[in-house]
Parts: sequence; structure tokens; C-alpha cells
Amino acid sequence: MDWLTGIFANAQGWLFQALVQPALFALDLASLFEDGYGATAWFMVGVLQIVVLVAVIGPLQRWRPVEAMDSPADRASIRIDVLYTLIHRLGLFRLALFFTLDPWFDVAFGALRTAGYGTFHLDQLWPGVTDKAAVSLLIYLLVFDFVAYWTHRGQHQLTWWWQLHSLHHAQRQMTMWSDNRNHLLDSILIDTVVVVVAQLIGVAPDQFILIVALTQLSESFQHANVRLWFGRVGERLWVSPRFHRLHHSIGLGHEAPTLPTACGSLPPEGALPLQGATPPEPAHLKAVQARAGGLGAAAFSLRPGEAGSAAPASEDKAGVYRLGGVNFGVLLPWWDMLFGTANFELRYDPTGVRDQVEKQRDYGSGFWSQQWLGMKRLVGRA
Ligand SMILES: [Zn+2]
Ligand SMILES: [Zn+2]
Repeated sequence: MDWLTGIFANAQGWLFQALVQPALFALDLASLFEDGYGATAWFMVGVLQIVVLVAVIGPLQRWRPVEAMDSPADRASIRIDVLYTLIHRLGLFRLALFFTLDPWFDVAFGALRTAGYGTFHLDQLWPGVTDKAAVSLLIYLLVFDFVAYWTHRGQHQLTWWWQLHSLHHAQRQMTMWSDNRNHLLDSILIDTVVVVVAQLIGVAPDQFILIVALTQLSESFQHANVRLWFGRVGERLWVSPRFHRLHHSIGLGHEAPTLPTACGSLPPEGALPLQGATPPEPAHLKAVQARAGGLGAAAFSLRPGEAGSAAPASEDKAGVYRLGGVNFGVLLPWWDMLFGTANFELRYDPTGVRDQVEKQRDYGSGFWSQQWLGMKRLVGRA
């Protein structure tokens, strides 16, 4: 581990001196040397992640894809997700925040400190134990993941927040590039939560970067178009592509029926057998499939055995749907298990938002149209 951090630090120093420092000098921004040095580390992490994506997760997608994505429309849609990934992982988004939002954060946290509210150091809880690097890393990871679970639930349960987060879910061609496909306003909100939490619990910068890097990489993997699960035990230890895909599934993962009996809402965690399970909402999903119409049945025929007779009646019985769902966890499925939102069924369904299928609602096909439509949804004009 130490030699790895050593290599990383050496490379960071080299890159900073060779590129970043001269650039800052040229731009007359020598006061930002320290920030520039930190930013170099983030940029390197981003490059490393993209290397892993292309070299490891990409081949996995080609080896065991859930669905074929070869059409020109599929490729165009995926290209926009690649753009989101590059903007976020290579630091363009962070750079924008640095010059806009960060000064406000500094003012706010400075004022709190002057008022006597110092940062609480979670790793000092039990000196000799919790301040050991591995233990504190684990504690911080748990805290961040717990917060991420609840912010994700907020994204689905608060109507205004869903107007933004639905952009993430509107991707019908979910791949390893889809993780960063979010409304910029949504990304700012999530980032704010993370920064505030990091300040509150006093995570060390090198541990913070490790936690974020690990989280991002795991998230990219979960979105991959790969038919992969971690086995009965593994599924309960770490969020898998199967687990997160279910969260993205139309009519299953992020919209729970209001009436438990009409479509058979999900039983609590553990009640669902894994293999050969009866899907909780087959009738409903078939209703969605049956309505797919113009979108083409192929988009819905991922499971060969599922093309049977549709039973649209049950959807009508359910009437109103609320935005709810399952599998909100980011790294650990434990919070979903604890709060009764886990679904461990082994299935791979079409992804997207119900109204794309039922009402052909447009979430935009290019970067700017997606952002613009998100703003319009937010103010109730789309
Ligand atoms: Zn979601
Ligand atoms: Zn997602």
C-alpha cells in the first residue's frame, strides 16, 4: 500500500511541476499552487478511473452484455454519457465549482470556526483504535455511504428533486458511462452534501480522495451493461451491477405501486427467494411492455421467457403510482436491508422512466437539451 501511495505521490509531483505549475505561473495564478497541487491528484485519479473503465469494465460489457447496444441511436446516447463522465472525472465540473461555490463554503466554514464550532474528528472517537488508518477509512466510508443512501432516497421522494434526478434514470442504454449522467444542479446539490459532511466529520484529504475514487469506480461498474451478480452472499456485501440495474428498471426499481396488493409490492428483504423467484410485478411490467408499442418490442425483450401474455389490468387497478422504489444503496446494500428497500431478485429488466414508455416523454438527447429540460421540469414547464 505504501509503495503505491509513493508512486502516486511521485507522479503527482512530476505532473505538477511539469504542467500545472508553469500553467499557473503563465496565468498569474501563483496563489493557487496548493490548490493546483491537490487538483493534480484528482485529475490523476480521474485518468486512472477511465483507464480501468476502458481496460477492465469495457471488456466485461462486451463479454456479458445485458442488452445489445449497436444501433446508431444507442451509440449517440452513450456518447453523451461519456461526455458527462469526462466532465466530472477529469475535473472540469470541480474546477467550475472551485471558482464559484467554494469561496462561499470557505466563508461559511470560516465563520463557523470563528464562532467556536470546530470540526469534529470522528477518528478521534477511540484513540488507539479508530485513529488507525484502516479503521478510520472504514468508518468514514460507512458514514459517507449512509449519507449517500439517504440523499438518494431524497432524490426519489422529494418531487422537485426527482425532476432533476429523473435525467439520470431516463437513460435507456445504461452503461459504465452512465453514472455521471446527472443534471448539473443535482450534481451541485450532491457535492454540497458531501463537502458539508466531510467538514463535519473531519476526514483527512488523502482518505477523502481514496473514498471518493473508490465510490466513483464502484458506481461506474454498477451502471455497466453487464449481466453480473456477486452471488447470494456477495450481493449482500457490496452493490453489484444487478442490484443497481434493478433500481433503474422501469416500473420496478424507482417507482413502487401505492397499493401493495394491486401489483404485489415488494416484500421485505430476505423474503424474496433468489433464483426462480416469481417477479413481484410481472403483470405490471408486461403492461409497460405492452404499451411500449412504437419504441419497439426488442427494447423490452431482454428476458426471453417474459414475452408471454400481457395483463395490463393490474396496472389500472393500482391507479396512482408514487415515486418510491428499491436499491438506493451506493456501495453497501446494508442500508437498503436495514430500511426495508432491498430487492435481491436475480433479474435484468429494461431501464428508464415510466413516462418515457407510456407518454413518450422527452428527457433530451444531447447534453444541453437534457440540462434545459431538467430546468423546465423543475419549474413545472416540461
Ligand atoms: Zn435513483
Ligand atoms: Zn444509477
